[in-house]
Amino acid sequence: MATPRTLAILLPVLLTGCLFGGGGNDRVTSNQPIRPRASGPIEMGGAPTAETRQCEADLTRDNVRFSPLPDRDFGGGCLVTGAVELLDIGVPVSGLKSMRCPLAKTFTAWVQHGVAPAAREILGSPLVKVESLGTYACRGIVGAGAAASRRLSEHALANAVDISAFVLADGRRITIEHDWHSNDPAIRQFLQIIQRSACRRFRTVLSPDYNAAHYNHFHMDMGRGPFCR
Ligand SMILES: [Zn+2]
Repeated sequence: MATPRTLAILLPVLLTGCLFGGGGNDRVTSNQPIRPRASGPIEMGGAPTAETRQCEADLTRDNVRFSPLPDRDFGGGCLVTGAVELLDIGVPVSGLKSMRCPLAKTFTAWVQHGVAPAAREILGSPLVKVESLGTYACRGIVGAGAAASRRLSEHALANAVDISAFVLADGRRITIEHDWHSNDPAIRQFLQIIQRSACRRFRTVLSPDYNAAHYNHFHMDMGRGPFCR
């Protein structure tokens, strides 16, 4: 039974989001919790920015398949602009939806040039799948108390991705939750190396070492930084 008290205890665990959320965003100063407009998103129209056009050209050049997404204002400060949905980056990735294009490009480079080579070289097996807990979510920063929960997470701008597991061709499934403190030094080294690779590419990277809210995933975003823990 989920009584209010057990919910209060479980909530930080149930919400897979991120406490730090890339430093958050100061645009929201309301005392209300962040939530999307009940009547749904508003399409903003307008042409893509030069930055978005260049980013999409870069993805195309790198043989990444993606769909450009319309700019949308979801209310509550939650905005998706210059975003794409990645369809094929060479390795299947579950759970990806809207990502701002620079986030999508950085994530693709991390998987192709950071994670895949580390799997082959350190664990001796090709990477066949990456599992995500998601990208866009209209919400505040999770896990840092009521004040932080009223500040926008980078997820609310489609500017963050949470990654939970990696599957290898030999059948092994390496999860942040169970393997961050693995007894196998090669697996620990693999996770540490790909985290360091992420820290060189994204603005903010949070691991289980940051806080309890990140016990089961890497949070990676293109907001404020650099911050790597
Ligand atoms: Zn996150």
